[in-house]
Amino acid sequence: LVSREHHATRSVIRVGGVPIGPDTLSVIAGPCAVETPEQTLAAVLMAKQAGASLLRGGAFKPRTSPYSYQGLGERGLKILADVREETGLPVVTEVIDPGSVDMVASYADMLQVGARNMQNFALLQAVGRAGKPVLLKRGFSATIEEWLSAAEYIAQRGNLDIVLCERGIRTFETATRNTLDISAVPVVQRLSHLPVIVDPSHSGGRRDLVVPLTRAAIAAGADGVIIDIHPEPKTARCDGDQALIESDLREVADAVTILSPLM
Ligand code: PEP
Repeated sequence: LVSREHHATRSVIRVGGVPIGPDTLSVIAGPCAVETPEQTLAAVLMAKQAGASLLRGGAFKPRTSPYSYQGLGERGLKILADVREETGLPVVTEVIDPGSVDMVASYADMLQVGARNMQNFALLQAVGRAGKPVLLKRGFSATIEEWLSAAEYIAQRGNLDIVLCERGIRTFETATRNTLDISAVPVVQRLSHLPVIVDPSHSGGRRDLVVPLTRAAIAAGADGVIIDIHPEPKTARCDGDQALIESDLREVADAVTILSPLM
């Protein structure tokens, strides 16, 4: 269902009325994790300066360590809904278990399935039935074939509103947190009709790499990027090292407007 054999032309997915797909370059941006109403609003206002048309923010955080910040849960979703009201940007947020899909879907415009859950088949089936577009991140040890099979689980439940997100894979390299597999963008776009976006924040894990990786993603033909922003990264409860700050926003906005004619 997700292959080009099923659907020859590339799909456009609408999220709260905002298109993601060919002929647009979507920026999804906001805090890695929702911490407070003030921090979330500040990050999303910064996201708008960077050219964002959708906001991101995690209320349920699937952290590697159980001692790391796990998110505000439903309280965080309410903050996201308030910030949508204030800024007009649709909400992209992660859901981590099948039992909370309906609850998360009642607040979100797009459900994110994170890298750690890419092969959580019960979750994939649940988001496939939820009636909301899905952002499916690539697992950090998943092949492209496994990633597309995961998308197939969602599609098989009747939901073809799926956007794929390359977010870096695990390699022998330790200079970056993960290795952005930039070739996955054109490879997947040839195999599948679904839009493909890139996460330059979680792949590199470093603020100084976000702009160069954004440029690389656009040059490779990605349909968008998803970026972490924080008003005060030093105090961030999650992934502060990769969060963009005020002085980076212009470069992202310029990369998006200047490079998108390349598409
Ligand atoms: C995220 O986007 O908040 C996230 C945890 O990303 P990933 O699943 O790619 O690690």
